Amino acid sequence: MTIRANKQVFYGRIVHSRSLTNLEILSKAALGVDENGKIKFLDNGIDSAEAACKKHRGFENAACTTLKPLQFLFPGLIDCHLHAPQWPNLAIGMEGTLREWVENYTDPIEESYHDNEKAQRVYSEMVQKELEIGSTTVAYNSTIHYQATNTLADMCMKYGQRAVIGKLCIVQGSTHGNWEASSEQSLEDAQKSVDYIQKIDPHETLVMPCLQPRGGPYAPPKLMAGLGEKTQNKGGEKIRVQAHMCETTDDMARTFKVHEGFQNYSDMYKSYGMLHEKSILAHCIHLSEKDISNLVETKAGVAHNPNSNTCLRDGECRVRQLLKAGVKVGLGTDCSAGYSTFMLDSMRQASNVSRHLAMHTGNDEWTLKFSELVYLATMGSASVVALEDKVGNFEVGKCFDALIIDTGLHDCINIAGWEKDDLALVKKWVFMGDDRSIRKVFVNGKLVAGKEK
Ligand SMILES: [Zn+2]
Repeated sequence: MTIRANKQVFYGRIVHSRSLTNLEILSKAALGVDENGKIKFLDNGIDSAEAACKKHRGFENAACTTLKPLQFLFPGLIDCHLHAPQWPNLAIGMEGTLREWVENYTDPIEESYHDNEKAQRVYSEMVQKELEIGSTTVAYNSTIHYQATNTLADMCMKYGQRAVIGKLCIVQGSTHGNWEASSEQSLEDAQKSVDYIQKIDPHETLVMPCLQPRGGPYAPPKLMAGLGEKTQNKGGEKIRVQAHMCETTDDMARTFKVHEGFQNYSDMYKSYGMLHEKSILAHCIHLSEKDISNLVETKAGVAHNPNSNTCLRDGECRVRQLLKAGVKVGLGTDCSAGYSTFMLDSMRQASNVSRHLAMHTGNDEWTLKFSELVYLATMGSASVVALEDKVGNFEVGKCFDALIIDTGLHDCINIAGWEKDDLALVKKWVFMGDDRSIRKVFVNGKLVAGKEK
């Protein structure tokens, strides 16, 4: 796919993360985007968009956008764990434990995607709504059906969303017919989706394949070994992995029954070559010291899904401990175990879960700071999905995946008295805002969604 657009210059308040502790807010800055959707300059302390056009060679005729006084530019949100087929089940099934929820709600709906027309219908609506709420990149789980998985990739290409997508692999431990005939079949079909996604987007402008064992209980040694071989790709560029790890103690006990001889969940994945810098591991709540050191050593990332973990009462991911150890952490929504796919909800819930940890332990160190919440939802997630060189903030050379946010609307955000406080405006949006504030959504420099699209 070729991206062709005019050069663009945005001028006004620009907000992004430089690091966990450094949330950079530039009050008067210009950002230039070239015709390929890449950021060419970020110029702080300039007076106008026009002045930036004059100053930066090649941008003389760029299309200029001057933000309003209560607007700001923010990096596109990155959801590093969402189950696309479960989207119709949002807010349903919070009564049970993880296993009860999977068996009563997840297995039946996932199985229904053998109907590819259903996939087309659900995914078409979902991808557009995901963009509308500012998720410019999503790491999607699909179902055991390669056709439906390929349809999801088609929808992301059609509507312009960046996504990591894989066919789910399940051969046992499941209900309602939601499993595949054999490990051989599962591997063959996984390859079909990898091949398809690489064919429709060979340069990874938007979609990237991944390998997805649902988790230890569902993928026996033979299947896990086959997936390990695929992800290693004969020593070439590794193929991403997305899987669950240490979500509940019951899930862990089932894993150790299927994969005998392991005492640490991560040792199991590691032994098959499934843990590396392109591995996304959802939850990681009940980790051992060895698990944490495996994550550090292999650079595999953790998708923290606070809403889901609270709804299913799985436990509290110890984000502070992981960050201190040097583990990559990002945020996910884990639809539909989490009831919202809005990444601002994930940031709010991550804040609350960290505060509950502080209350249980009497130690405020567990509390995540505001700059950390922003980092986790943007740069942290980018590193977990192995796209930190491409997206996550506004560094020169990265793709322009961005949101124009307006805090000056007649909506639920009350900014009275805080109009001149840049940080307050960002906090108000993160904790009070909704999709009404998201006026424009860009991926690769292209306007793909937003109330002013
Ligand atoms: Zn999940």
